[in-house]
Amino acid sequence: MPEEQGRTIAPLDSLSEVLSAPLDAEQRTEAAERRPPRDQAVRDVVIVGSGPAGLTAAIYTARADLQPLVIEGEPSSTSDQPGGQLMLTTEVENFPGFVQGVMGPELMGSFRAQAERFGAQIITERATRVDLSHRPFGIWTGPVESDTPTYLARSIIVATGARSLMLGVPGEDRLLGHGVSTCATCDGFFFRGQPIVVVGGGDSALEEAIFLSKFASSVLIIHRRKELRASKIMQDRALSNPKIAFRWDSVVTEVLGDPKVSGVRVQDVHTGEVDDIAVDGCFVAIGHAPNTTLFTGQLDMEESGYLVTGPGTRTNVSGVFACGDVQDHVYRQAITAAGSGCMAAIDAERYLEALAEH
Ligand code: NAP
Repeated sequence: MPEEQGRTIAPLDSLSEVLSAPLDAEQRTEAAERRPPRDQAVRDVVIVGSGPAGLTAAIYTARADLQPLVIEGEPSSTSDQPGGQLMLTTEVENFPGFVQGVMGPELMGSFRAQAERFGAQIITERATRVDLSHRPFGIWTGPVESDTPTYLARSIIVATGARSLMLGVPGEDRLLGHGVSTCATCDGFFFRGQPIVVVGGGDSALEEAIFLSKFASSVLIIHRRKELRASKIMQDRALSNPKIAFRWDSVVTEVLGDPKVSGVRVQDVHTGEVDDIAVDGCFVAIGHAPNTTLFTGQLDMEESGYLVTGPGTRTNVSGVFACGDVQDHVYRQAITAAGSGCMAAIDAERYLEALAEH
């Protein structure tokens, strides 16, 4: 059985060994001290997160009659946005099956309705704490100090996604989806023949800029230093692209326009000099952060915070699966997230089947 950072990854055929392993003395005491949860039933599956990955997992587990509970997050929170990042976009043209495209929130509304149609229970709360050291696993949605988990689950599917880091400057929030974007693959097409800026100096910024250069009339990369963080190969590609220009040592201090982007205000970090650049689009590509704080110290993560999965969607804790952007910093598309949500559902279903057999 492979060991990873002190935890055991169990192949499905050896699940019974893991599940029948006696609790140690400390675990027994803690388990005995637990008070009954608000919801007495032990759920087969609790899904944390409600973007394309979480809701696809909900559709599949609901159709497998596992009566999943989806903790979808709270609307007031940026990192726990119910419906995920697509709720912050406008038109989605690359999700297969929608010939004329579909609005992001409408697409997620359909995912949600489809999951509910098959019996998924969706609650608009935020998971505040999880305990993966006991079986069944504990999930809290209330105060983290409480000894009592709100829900108990035989398996958990983590689909808490990632969030784009934002500049936090005036105009950015207001114009998100109206010229401000964090996804060239999603929105590049809308900027055909128009001038745009990309903010950032890493691989994401250069990748977005190179992709956008196929559509835009010009792409200006605004970077706060004069050295790029991106890999050499990406630098070479961007620097040799005739449509891409650079503005070094500069930061965007405001996104301008109403009701859509008409320009950005840029400041030189050395001289303090400010000027306005007229553009139709502002792509923010200063990195992403996975929403994994909840699992710190319990699930294996990469240095960047993304959850480590494999084989399939398994994490290092048997019975806990992860799908979508929380474990994928490479593809980050709605369709790939949905696909991995399906995988997580099937993995969880097989895990529960093996559990029932022993
Ligand atoms: P990143 O490497 O962390 O780069 C972020 C960039 O944004 C940096 O240049 C940073 O500037 C800048 N930045 C950060 N905060 C800023 C702010 N508040 N205002 C202005 N600029 C700001 O993030 P990433 O580009 O998303 O890449 C993340 C990881 O994924 C990396 O390991 C990358 O190699 C990988 N990745 C790979 C590919 C590929 O291989 N095709 C594509 C995308 C991403 P400083 O440089 O001054 O810190």
